[in-house]
Order: sequence, then structure tokens, then C-alpha cells
Amino acid sequence: MDIAIVGGGSAAVALLDALAVSADEFADRPGSVTVFEPSPQLWRGRPYAADLDSVLVNSIPRLMSIRSGDFGHYSGWLGERSTGHLDQRLGEPLVPRGLYGEYLVDSAEGALAALRERGWSCGVVRGPVTNIVTAGDGFVLTTGDGQQHRASRLALCAGGGTSPDPYGLSGLPGYIHDPYPLARTLDEIAPESAVSVVGSGLVAVDIVVSLAARGHSGRITLHSRSGMLPHVWQRPNPRVSRHLTGERITGLYREQGFVTVDDLVDLVRAEITGAGESFDDFAAEILDTSEDPVARLRRHIGAIDDPGIGRRLLRESAHQLGASVWPLLRETDRARLRRYFRTVNAVASPMVPVNALTVLDMLDTGCLRLARGVRAVEPVSGGFRVHDATGTGTADTVINAVNPAPQAVPAAARGLVDSLVDTGLATRHPEGGITPADPRVHIVGDLSGGGSFMTTGIPGIAGRAAVTARALRGGERLATPGRLTRLPA
Ligand SMILES: Cc1cc2nc3c(=O)[nH]c(=O)nc-3n(C[C@H](O)[C@H](O)[C@H](O)COP(=O)(O)OP(=O)(O)OC[C@H]3O[C@@H](n4cnc5c(N)ncnc54)[C@H](O)[C@@H]3O)c2cc1C
Repeated sequence: MDIAIVGGGSAAVALLDALAVSADEFADRPGSVTVFEPSPQLWRGRPYAADLDSVLVNSIPRLMSIRSGDFGHYSGWLGERSTGHLDQRLGEPLVPRGLYGEYLVDSAEGALAALRERGWSCGVVRGPVTNIVTAGDGFVLTTGDGQQHRASRLALCAGGGTSPDPYGLSGLPGYIHDPYPLARTLDEIAPESAVSVVGSGLVAVDIVVSLAARGHSGRITLHSRSGMLPHVWQRPNPRVSRHLTGERITGLYREQGFVTVDDLVDLVRAEITGAGESFDDFAAEILDTSEDPVARLRRHIGAIDDPGIGRRLLRESAHQLGASVWPLLRETDRARLRRYFRTVNAVASPMVPVNALTVLDMLDTGCLRLARGVRAVEPVSGGFRVHDATGTGTADTVINAVNPAPQAVPAAARGLVDSLVDTGLATRHPEGGITPADPRVHIVGDLSGGGSFMTTGIPGIAGRAAVTARALRGGERLATPGRLTRLPA
């Protein structure tokens, strides 16, 4: 078997690790694996490149393991490297994402060495795949330099889409379209200049805390439509769900042929009331968007140690069950959930306490302002004019912190996606991304059509990589939509 892995970010690392872990099960037939990656960030992708120390991983070590089911794999690697990185309020180490990138590099190199030891031939081609066609009983991949490579199995790990440019500012002086690595882009900004960040999610938080770490003294404004900040991580308080479980949801799907949002709400209600807490209070906390975001941030910081299960339950379930439950929902229920996109994302992907404290301090001292209802950003002589619900402001620099649409095709993968669709190896999913139309084609990551509206985090990527490795081995069919993965405690 000759496996071509297109893309060399964390999805590829997870897949290589899963192949290496199960290499003995291929023992009588070792094959070859070739990874194609054009960027200098081999194994790290965009998120985990070397960057400022203020650019932190946004999750606890147990949820950053690249090996599915082995929640200690990353903590084991981290060991003494975690010294000096404890988030006091969270009680967990949160390291710079560049250091997490070293874990990815070590994991990939370890996996390649393990595969080679078992007779596999492994290689990395430093170029983009631009075209894939069928040839005989396999595929021919063409890279940017016109070279051709043969494979019998394809694993597409090309990542998610490219950030949109909602105000058409690309190329203008003073506009930063892709903020990463912040070590490079923030260097271009004078410390006393007025900075407008478009977006108020986790990327915006990375930018703000990094500007603060560099001693930025100019005015910083976060402009977004909603003015909503992410929630704040609460101290992990592991518990096992009794109602909101994969088994219960699978049971509902078998009975009804679908699952509704109301079914999920009922399970959340049972979980929360079962823990002796008020479901109505929880629902009000999640759905009330009228509260002043600064007051809410202050309240959430005060609730880091609160033992209430509600927000923890929603955060964990969104990541652990979200991708598997999404295809079981009826289209009307998916549309209903999409309307709560920002709310769900704010709870499911909270900011880490150390960042929340910095953001609150900057808001309190007036260095940072939140502006909602952004309508337009236009270039003017020497800067930009930003129109929002409160009026019009000016900025010397505008930084884009808007996330790509879910399941958008990355710009670097457009040619290869077109060729896969043209040759009938994949179909475009109506909600974005592509779906394999050939059992020899697999996708790990956000290119996969039919997923939920959330960016897949490391646990989702690791889980999908493990399922894909089993499918490549031929020992197990790919998970069907009805199959839900077991949740970590
Ligand atoms: C800024 C940021 C921070 C994040 N932080 C966290 C976090 O703290 N915790 C967490 O759980 N999740 C986090 N995530 C989410 C998740 O970890 C990442 O989205 C994940 O790294 C995605 O991995 P990937 O391999 O699918 O994609 P990527 O990392 O984007 O890698 C895809 C690779 O494919 C390559 N590629 C694209 N097209 C081609 C082509 N045609 N030929 C060959 N190669 C190609 C690209 O060059 C790229 O290197 C974060 C995401 C972002 C964007």
C-alpha cells in the first residue's frame, strides 16, 4: 500500500502516529507513506509555528494529545518543559503554541522512524499537490513543479479555509490580513499607533495579549458584529455524563431516524438538573447576549473555580460529540443551531484565564475598547476609517482576525479539490468542503464536508486520524454518521 498524505500539519502528524501505533497490524505488508507539504512549517501547520511566547495553546494538556485515546501522550512529552508555564487560575500548564509545535515535530519524526523500522518506506515532498487523477488501480499526484507521484491510497490533510477579507483591504499598507506569526506582523506596528482588530474571537485575543506583552501604548479596538468575547475556561472538573452521552444519542437516532436540537436540550437539562443545578439559570447564562461584555468577562473570571457543570458540559460535548452528532440532525435543526453559531463557539472555545485577566485589565485601564456592529472599514489617507454601531473611528493599522468559513477549501488546495471532483473521487458538500466518493480516499480535518460549524480541535483531529488509520489498514470500515466516539472522562 502506497499512502499519499496531502498536507503536513497536525492532522498529518496524528495520522502518521496512528499508522505507526498500529504498524504491526500491517506487518506482513509494509508499504510506503509520502507526505506533501509546501510551507516551511512542516508538521506545525499555521497554528503551531514558532511565534511569540504570548501566543499560547488554548486547551489543557489532556485535550492536546495527538494520539487518540491516550490522554497522557502530550503531558508525557511535556514533562519538565511545562516548568514556568502554569496558568495559576486554571491549574494546568499552557505553553506557547510554538513549543506545542515541537511536540508535533517530535511526534511526526518518531512515527516516521517507527514506520521505517517496520520496513515502511517514508518520505516528505516539499511542494503543493496541484492535481490528482486516477491511473490504473491507483492515483497520480502532480506537484507544483510538475513532478508526478504514484499512490494507492489518499489521505487529504490540507486543513481549513483561508480567512475572508470582508472589507477588501488586502494589499493596502497598514492592513494585516493574516496575523500569524505575530512575531513578524506585530513588528510592523509602531507602539503608539491606533490598532483596530476586526473580530473578537480567540485570534483577536492572541493579538491583544501579544500587543500588551510588547508594551503597545496606542489605542486598541476590537470591532465585531456582535461585540461578544469568548467565554473563559473554568478549572477542569472531570465528571462522567450520564445523559448527554454517545450511547443515548445513538439510541435516539435508531428510534427516530434523526436527532433534534430539542432532544439534545432535553439531555442537557437532565444532566444539569441531575447534578442539582438550575437548567433555567444555565440557559439564561448561555443565551443572554444583552449583558455588557466587560461585565460578563469579569463575572466569568470570578467563576473560573465555580463548580457548576453547565458551561463545562457544553464545552466538552461540543468538541467530543459535535462532529458525530451534526450529521444526525435534520436540516431544520442544523439551521437552528447555525443561528447560535457565535454563542456556541464562545462557550465551546473559551479563552484561557491568563489571557482573560490581561484582556480585562486592558479594558479596565482603557487601553482596549470593544466596538459592536462593525459595518465597514475603508482606507483613508494615512490609515483607515471604521464604521460601527457607535459611529466612525480611525485606525493606523487594521488586523484581520476573522476566521475562515467552516469547511472552506484552503486556497492552496483549490486545484487539487477541483481535480478530485472532476475525476469523481470526491463530491462537493452543499455546506462546504468535500466528501470522498471512493473508498481509497480519506479526509482528516476541516476539508471534510458535512461537519459542524466549529473548527476541529486536536481531539477531533486525533480521533478522525485513528479511524482513518484503521480504514487504511482495511480492518475496519469508516465510522458511519450513526457511530459516536467514546468520550474521555
Ligand atoms: C490560530 C489557531 C489556533 C488554534 N489553537 C488550538 C488549540 O490551542 N487547541 C486545539 O485543540 N485546536 C486549536 N486550533 C484548531 C486546530 O488545532 C487546528 O485547526 C489544526 O491544527 C488543524 O490541523 P490540520 O492539519 O487539519 O490543518 P493545518 O494545520 O492548516 O495544516 C494543513 C497543511 O496542509 C498544507 N496544504 C494545504 N494545501 C496543500 C496542498 N495543495 N498540497 C500540500 N499541502 C497542502 C498546508 O500548507 C498546511 O501546512 C487552532 C487553530 C488555529 C487556526
